[in-house]
Amino acid sequence: MKLSSAELIKLESKHAAHNYHPIPVVLSKGEGVYVWDIEGNRYYDFLSSYSAISQGHRHPAIMKAMREQMERMTLCSRAFYNDMLPRYAEHVTKLLGYDMILPMNSGAEAVETAIKLSRKWGYKVKQIPTGQAIVVCCKGCFHGRTIAVISMSDDPSAYEDYSPYLPGLRSIPYNDVEALKTVLEAEGNLVCAFLVEPIQGEAGVVVPDEGYLSKCYDLCRKHNVLFVGDEVQTGLGRTGRMLATEWENVRSDILILGKALSGGTMPVSAVLANSDIMLTIQPGEHGSTYGGNPLACAVAMASLDVIVNERLAENAFKQGTKLMQALNDLKKKYSFISQVRGKGLLIAIVINHQSKSAWDLCMIIKKNGLLCKPTHEDIVRFAPPLVITDDQVEGAISIVSKSIEEFSSDKC
Ligand SMILES: *Cc1c(COP(=O)(O)O)cnc(C)c1O
Repeated sequence: MKLSSAELIKLESKHAAHNYHPIPVVLSKGEGVYVWDIEGNRYYDFLSSYSAISQGHRHPAIMKAMREQMERMTLCSRAFYNDMLPRYAEHVTKLLGYDMILPMNSGAEAVETAIKLSRKWGYKVKQIPTGQAIVVCCKGCFHGRTIAVISMSDDPSAYEDYSPYLPGLRSIPYNDVEALKTVLEAEGNLVCAFLVEPIQGEAGVVVPDEGYLSKCYDLCRKHNVLFVGDEVQTGLGRTGRMLATEWENVRSDILILGKALSGGTMPVSAVLANSDIMLTIQPGEHGSTYGGNPLACAVAMASLDVIVNERLAENAFKQGTKLMQALNDLKKKYSFISQVRGKGLLIAIVINHQSKSAWDLCMIIKKNGLLCKPTHEDIVRFAPPLVITDDQVEGAISIVSKSIEEFSSDKC
């Protein structure tokens, strides 16, 4: 039975939880930087599923690896060895410079894993008295949607009415080295980890001052605290470097990856660390039925290869610079654009308009052939697939320019 967009939206609204507020467009096909709705309209995908589709929709090399692996085996659980996890584990750890990986599925799970690993290290290595380990996190953070993770959030829509929350957390302002210093000087002997996003993606692409990450890292060293980088969104080329912490020559003690690790095919996440940290978790003490499944391993290896072979970090920097330049030009022209910020192809503009919101702007941009999503009331994020070409960036810029002009007039 053929259903229209309106009918499908109604059907979903009736039978699926209302835990999202999507832009009203029903997509049925994706290829590279483009997606198509069921009416056949083509759009630039400038959300890339929150940076998960960095390699573009259905990248041929990833599809091939996935198809080939599906013909052999998809899951065998960690009760047995499979012939892909060892290969993937060597591949990803060599590429990113860690001894070991702990494979998980979603980003939130990987964050939970990193918290457990940090606590374990805190008790076994740092010798924090049992029950007293503290994790320091940042205001404005987004690490996913589980109970432990929303306990760190200061966004009421994320935490309200889900109490009681996880104890053992300290939330400090982001981009505030002094705040970290204060908490570490007060109770650093009990702190096992400082968990931070190199750029706060969901908060609206909040880029900290230069030097923030490296100064925080130094404070962590001084107080024997693990620096835990949540690079689920910023990692794997998005900001113009393989990892966003590379911009400040910082190497996270525990690195959290997800999203683009599977090129938009299936949930694949990872926690990486050196063996002195990782081996504090013993057999039977943590796991996941699907974590490290052979299909995920094959897909993740192919996804990483695409990022490296196609120099996607470099391209993110090059195309991001152009896009940011164009947005800054628009900012000069339109006073309601109060800020343009970002790094590589993780970019946002802040809208300060009396009567119209970021949502309204996204709807105009959609009408003109590009999909993006507002974060909060006033921020529009631009995060296209990193495979985007010169011509495609030009095309996208002209859509955004035209849309902003329409937004500024009273036409809409
Ligand atoms: C998206 C995101 C997560 C959560 O990932 P899920 O796969 O949605 O659970 C965690 N941390 C950051 C920084 C993210 O952007």
